[in-house]
Amino acid sequence: MNTIPTLAPWAATDHNSRGRVHPEQDPEYRSNFQRDRDRIVHCAAFRRLEYKTQVFVNHEGDMFRTRLTHSLEVAQIARTIARALRLNEDLSEAISLAHDLGHTPFGHAGQDTLDTCMKPWGGFEHNLQSLRIVDVLEEKYAGFNGLNLTFETREGILKHCKKEKAKQLGELGERFLKGEQPSLEAQLVNIADAIAYNNHDVDDGLRSGLISEQQLCETTLFGSHYTSVKKEWPELDTKRLRHETIRRMINDLTIDLVTTSSQAIIDANLETIEDVRQQHEPLIRYSDKMRAKNLEMKRFLRDHLYQHYKVHRMTVKAGRIVKGLFEAYIEDPLLIPYENEQRKLLQQASSQKLARRVADYIAGMTDRYAINEFERIYG
Ligand code: MG
Repeated sequence: MNTIPTLAPWAATDHNSRGRVHPEQDPEYRSNFQRDRDRIVHCAAFRRLEYKTQVFVNHEGDMFRTRLTHSLEVAQIARTIARALRLNEDLSEAISLAHDLGHTPFGHAGQDTLDTCMKPWGGFEHNLQSLRIVDVLEEKYAGFNGLNLTFETREGILKHCKKEKAKQLGELGERFLKGEQPSLEAQLVNIADAIAYNNHDVDDGLRSGLISEQQLCETTLFGSHYTSVKKEWPELDTKRLRHETIRRMINDLTIDLVTTSSQAIIDANLETIEDVRQQHEPLIRYSDKMRAKNLEMKRFLRDHLYQHYKVHRMTVKAGRIVKGLFEAYIEDPLLIPYENEQRKLLQQASSQKLARRVADYIAGMTDRYAINEFERIYG
């Protein structure tokens, strides 16, 4: 039985938290990180994840992952790792559920196009956009803009950041300038994210027919588990064989990660969460052997799935839609369906402000909304 262990002294807690930008009273029955998680689940951007692409556009099939189901899978894997390492599950869950909030419609295709469109005004990056959503864009609370999350959840959401941008982010940007690490909870969500998408992309890739088991057996990770499941259960049907293989891959990766990180934590002689931040390298990591297997799988997915001509076609189409919308709104901001007062503000806005508003608006769209909106404007 795996009962909830006492937290390690270097785990993030309410006591060592750097708090919220706008001070608030502690919640009565929840920890501050539980409150963060609950605010994320209640926000509009979270609900929209249901209709945003992971790899396959949402309407291509009901069985494929969306950003929402992806985020839930990340949270589930992250909580397992957090508990095994005596780290803060609530914080890991909050970061997991928020980590993809800033994604545009159509996944990376949408983000790359929006970034190109926004080049004259500082570019667009989904990671920074996730932070912008929880810090500024959500308008729900009486006393502040955004969700007023704790420093630790925001630190976890900001996975990476260029130095130029980091300089504008105050306390949150400091670690990118000083070469420091985020909390272990943030580090583990990073890897849980990759465990989730590699494995569900294998699953979705197989289901879509774009890749086959035979091809996947070229990779050590899939091949070894596939062979052993087949040996143990020679009569198993394709669907179960596939699922059992993926289940074992996730388990294998997670166990390696917990074992290796656990040793790295011991070797680092940690005492507090500040010791975690002072490390030169992340302590949450795979063994060298598993890192190699994982890399091999990533390369496989890139070459055979993400660059598959059918996925590429979607990418090109998505780019055209996002670019078309951006150009239309910049040319005539009144196309944005805002209420009167906001329309006036938009008309008076500087080109910098207008471009950012347009980017926020497009980034917030779901796949189907963007497709319909493109039709409405150009159709
Ligand atoms: Mg993700």
